[in-house]
Amino acid sequence: METVVIAGGGVAGLDLATRLGRTRGAVRRVILVDSAPTHFWKPLLHSVAAGLIDPAHYHIDYARQALESGFEFVCGEIVGIDRATRSLEVRLRRPREDAATATVHYDRLVLSFGSVTDFFGVPGARQHCLSLDSVGQAEAFRQRFLNACAATGARRDAFHEAGLRDTSAPLVDIVIVGAGPTGIELAADLRHTVDTLVKYRLSGLGASRQVRIRLLERGQRLLPGLDPAVSALAVRKLRGLGIEICTGAAVSEVGPREVRTEDGRVFPAALTVWAAGVRGPQLAIAPALGANRNGQILVNEQLQTVDDPRVYAMGDCSSLVQPDRSQMIPPTAQAARQQSAFLAGLLTRRPGATPPRFAYRDYGTLVTLGRSGTVGILLRAVGKRNLRVRGAIASLMYRMTYERYVMSHVGLPRMIGHMVARWCRSKMLMPVKWH
Ligand SMILES: Cc1cc2nc3c(=O)[nH]c(=O)nc-3n(C[C@H](O)[C@H](O)[C@H](O)COP(=O)(O)OP(=O)(O)OC[C@H]3O[C@@H](n4cnc5c(N)ncnc54)[C@H](O)[C@@H]3O)c2cc1C
Repeated sequence: METVVIAGGGVAGLDLATRLGRTRGAVRRVILVDSAPTHFWKPLLHSVAAGLIDPAHYHIDYARQALESGFEFVCGEIVGIDRATRSLEVRLRRPREDAATATVHYDRLVLSFGSVTDFFGVPGARQHCLSLDSVGQAEAFRQRFLNACAATGARRDAFHEAGLRDTSAPLVDIVIVGAGPTGIELAADLRHTVDTLVKYRLSGLGASRQVRIRLLERGQRLLPGLDPAVSALAVRKLRGLGIEICTGAAVSEVGPREVRTEDGRVFPAALTVWAAGVRGPQLAIAPALGANRNGQILVNEQLQTVDDPRVYAMGDCSSLVQPDRSQMIPPTAQAARQQSAFLAGLLTRRPGATPPRFAYRDYGTLVTLGRSGTVGILLRAVGKRNLRVRGAIASLMYRMTYERYVMSHVGLPRMIGHMVARWCRSKMLMPVKWH
């Protein structure tokens, strides 16, 4: 009977804690540690950044989840891991009594502290780009975006008062670096937000075209990981939304007001978002664990770190060393959830049973383009054949991914309750969180 400590309650960590808490088996105690008091489903961050959803309505409270699912929750930032004494040092978020830090002991440790944006060492990128790694960052982007729109609106009003004609040039330039699913979904959501601001006369913008949204992609096409037909469809829909797409644009430098590419192009930018890659975070807290070039911890097919059989890693912070290297496991929620389900089985199996091997299965990708619908591909959906999806069915599938995730944590009745509450709010409140 052992104590399993899960370091990081994201998509993988919360899922594992819930599964282990409910089944236990050979596990005596399950402790989840996260620096935040509530969990947010990261794939919705682009909608938070665009102000289309209020994160407060999408949180899962760790303390409640812990009580209902049979695990313990410690709210604090993990600042050190001592593998010799098998303990974590946690800086508690709310100091209790006289101690601001706590020591949490483990028999087995699962690292699941996600990823951070990889700026690939591009000069100026870290200083001048915004990224979407957390709710705080998405909210910071939303504020700056709305401020930029409001400032542009004020300039336009001043133009009119001075009797000058409004210029037709776009006045707010948003540059999104990276045309993978995150960049594309953010671009489509931002366009929707701008249209709403104009419709409700909230920012002083006279027309949607006053905000120019550009997607820069170093490769030759959008959604490079997906079927070319899906990517062509996404291009058509994005152009329909008035979003400019620049392929073959490898960013070489980012300044406070512009983005430069290797081929000499210069793009003006009031706001630049970096959505082009991730890397494992803060290896300093897990010293002497082998990692790949991206700082992701190396694990074997049981998701055990290659240096310590008592320490496991899953989700974005891990990298699986596969013997044939035929398939890299992508840093996605889909992979994170498969890994947490696998580890839940592994950690509760009968002693002496042959340990299973983790095998990733890619079910495909869905990309939502706001009001232009959803496009995507389902892999091996019909026998061995892939299926391209679009329209209402694709949009429904996209939405159900999140609802099914919520249901697996809080159950069907509460999931329906959340859906109904969100629908009611959408009928009563502004469609954009603008203050
Ligand atoms: C905008 C955006 C859109 C995305 N869209 C999709 C999508 O459509 N489909 C898809 O499959 N994937 C998508 N992803 C990727 C997906 O969100 C990640 O792959 C997934 O969240 C990884 O899960 P994880 O558990 O490894 O990490 P995370 O979900 O990031 O969780 C990490 C957790 O660790 C905690 N933590 C970190 N450091 C510490 C510390 N020192 N102490 C205590 N706690 C700590 C954090 O608070 C967090 O709760 C998207 C990502 C982004 C940013």
